[in-house]
Amino acid sequence: MFTAFLIKYAEIGVKGKNRYIFEERLVDQIRYALRRCDGQFKVHRTQGRIYVDAVTEFDYDETVAELKTVFGISGICPVVYVEDNGFEDLKKVVTNYMDAVYPDKNMTFKVVSRRARKNYPLESMDINAKIGETLLDAFPELRVDVHNPDVLLNIEIREKIYIYSIIIPGPGGMPVGTAGKAMLLLSGGIDSPVAGYMISKRGVVLDACYFHAPPYTSERAKQKVVDLAKLISRYTGPIRLHVINFTDIQLYIYEKCPHEELTIIMRRYMMKIAERIALESECIGLITGESIGQVASQTLQSMAVTNEVCTLPVYRPLIGFDKQDIVDISEKINTYETSILPYEDCCTTFVAKHPVTKPNLKVIKLHERNLEDRIDEMIEEALRTDEVIEIVY
Ligand code: ATP
Ligand code: MG
Repeated sequence: MFTAFLIKYAEIGVKGKNRYIFEERLVDQIRYALRRCDGQFKVHRTQGRIYVDAVTEFDYDETVAELKTVFGISGICPVVYVEDNGFEDLKKVVTNYMDAVYPDKNMTFKVVSRRARKNYPLESMDINAKIGETLLDAFPELRVDVHNPDVLLNIEIREKIYIYSIIIPGPGGMPVGTAGKAMLLLSGGIDSPVAGYMISKRGVVLDACYFHAPPYTSERAKQKVVDLAKLISRYTGPIRLHVINFTDIQLYIYEKCPHEELTIIMRRYMMKIAERIALESECIGLITGESIGQVASQTLQSMAVTNEVCTLPVYRPLIGFDKQDIVDISEKINTYETSILPYEDCCTTFVAKHPVTKPNLKVIKLHERNLEDRIDEMIEEALRTDEVIEIVY
């Protein structure tokens, strides 16, 4: 019965004179998400509102599911719209609407009408009263509550007449593409896909990089990262995934540095390389899935030492999250099942039994001098052999 959706957005409503940029971006993102649906739609902005009109038959559930992936949408209202065939006809239409949408009439309601077209013969207050009366006559169980109704029945008189009362929550956030681009360090774990999702939710476009160490990490581990990137790209839009071969660097560090410092030194080189790729791809920040204290490399001391190699800001949206909070989001965005597949990432292969938890920057730098001979050349080689995979959901 629904033939359109009214799209509600929260924060972008308050962006002053930049508002239209946000709205246009949101319209683009809605069109992009809906290309995955069967039907055809016309997405348009009219008087400060965004509408998705179905032009053909469409699958309601599928369409709502896709709209729920568009950051910037706070609510999705399925709309019935009809031609204006006079007020008597409207009464019938609204009665049928209420009957179809609310089989159980034991509830309160309120009618709110708006006339975007002032030549309609009745005024809003009149419409509210008369439609309310009609509904009470048709369905004796219904009650009116003007302060806190169970159902707010909206009637908008435009060229056509729009009727809606359901609000399905959207994901919130800002439309992707309104806040620059950042480089996500994406591993196969639970955390980094969630971190990417969260930053993208604020409007940021993502690129990603994965440090692969064949044969210590398998093809399946790499495929898992590709799969995770694909799952989050349902929300974030296309992702350029850089797969960096990290084996030689890892082995070199393993050979030359104390094993309990391996993880921290390795992470410093990951960040350094990620930043190089970020700068080449116009990313203005790095993103990781770190959270304080989760593992040895995520103490404040360790993160201070890792951070020291970067000039770009490093965003860690999960920094204050408990593991369970992160798991909850990963389940919601459907990455959890993939994240827990047991293919090891490069960190687990080379982990020491007792990694340092309070590394000292001076000591780490001293030990990194053992790498002086070949590390620069190895970094260049890793960058040269960067494999780029374009991820599209
Ligand atoms: P995750 O669940 O995201 O794998 P984690 O709890 O396993 O995180 P670490 O292995 O210490 O934690 O990694 C911390 C962060 O460093 C990750 O969230 C990710 O952003 C980045 N990272 C770790 N390993 C890799 C890798 N092989 N390639 C790219 N980034 C990585
Ligand atoms: Mg990990």
